[in-house]
Amino acid sequence: MTAQPTAIAGDVQALAPWQSYICHACGYIYNEAEGDPDSGLAAGTRFADIPEDWACPLCGVTKSDFELYEAPSLDALRAQASGCAPAMTSAARQTPGVVIVGAGRAGWQLAETLRALDAEVPITIVTACAGDLYDKPLLSVAMARQIEPEKLIKEAGTEAARRLNVRLLPQTLAIRICKETRQLRTTRGTLRYDQLVLAHGAKAALPPALPAALCWRINHLGAYLQLRAALGDAATTGPKDVLIVGAGLIGSELANDLALGGHRITLLDVQPEPLARWHADQAGARVLQAWKDLPIRFVGEVKVSSVERLALDAERLWKPLPEGMARAGLSTRLRITTECGQHFAADEVIVATGLQTPSRLAQSAGLAWADGISVDPHTLRTSDDRIHAMGDCITLGGQASRFIEPIARQAKTIAAAITACEPVPYETRTAVVRVKTTSMPLTLH
Ligand code: FE
Repeated sequence: MTAQPTAIAGDVQALAPWQSYICHACGYIYNEAEGDPDSGLAAGTRFADIPEDWACPLCGVTKSDFELYEAPSLDALRAQASGCAPAMTSAARQTPGVVIVGAGRAGWQLAETLRALDAEVPITIVTACAGDLYDKPLLSVAMARQIEPEKLIKEAGTEAARRLNVRLLPQTLAIRICKETRQLRTTRGTLRYDQLVLAHGAKAALPPALPAALCWRINHLGAYLQLRAALGDAATTGPKDVLIVGAGLIGSELANDLALGGHRITLLDVQPEPLARWHADQAGARVLQAWKDLPIRFVGEVKVSSVERLALDAERLWKPLPEGMARAGLSTRLRITTECGQHFAADEVIVATGLQTPSRLAQSAGLAWADGISVDPHTLRTSDDRIHAMGDCITLGGQASRFIEPIARQAKTIAAAITACEPVPYETRTAVVRVKTTSMPLTLH
């Protein structure tokens, strides 16, 4: 907890406890004690004193989209829940209740929204990771903001599970859905469900030519922490050469952040400029301008055809790694080759060429599929009555919706349907994208 403000005689406001405000769109929490030095708000800046044109540092919405925030306790949620008469309450403890697959922002948001509507319904979360809560957008600005990797965890999964009275099954893979018997098979046994919600997100895609073992894919905290450990601290162990394949949003933000962290970046893309999707906004030109003093080299119109780990001999010539031999005594590097025959050398390779929804689980239940789990655009129900889906794994009319802002609204729609409360139809909105290239943030539509 942060310290209370020092009392200043006669200054009543300074005596009030610091408060936090949450962004409705992305969940960013503005803490008055810490301020937001990146956008010019010194520590100790009261929310009321923030200029009206200030934008959320994570998602770009304005001050009016923030509200006072306190992490809800189970008691608070219970009190809130009394307003709604949930369909499941009477025999709730005997029913399997709701099973949620995924403990990212979507899974936890749904658990919290459900708990606010129904204090009793059993909720189980199945997740392949530890289930810790964190803000994914921070992964691409953590170095520039000097956030220690371990500080990225906002709340441990086990803590959140206790707070929300949720059964959390961490390090557990969901394998198959049997919709006839309403069962989910997992690596820790079979779970029954009344309602199943798929919130397992998407995975970073890997172009077929690239070996998974040599390429980082950063789409969750676990992989990010491993990457940070591999890179080390540029100031103490020296800068690393990092090659990033893909100069879309994530690739560009990571390039920016790792460069500000002192590493040397080569950024490749098949397009002639970064952020090519926003060519009309001149995003590429603007971002290259912002990078002119950073160690980022952008190379456009190239396609990577291979990544290999090779040894470098004393003359700095590439040599194949001797079979079965330890790397001791030989310096090894990654050699990246493009289709046009260019070579690059790097210590680490990160692939950021887009996301893909894993299909196996949804297809085990024969759910309608359109490049993602196809859901009804108003109810977010899949082709099965008892299964909803939300977040990065869904498509609406064939379109993926991989933004943070819709998640809270999706959770409201699904939680209302599951608890048989007044329906809350979901509404598709155009996303506003904030490119967090700290040196010059861009807002794109
Ligand atoms: Fe926000």
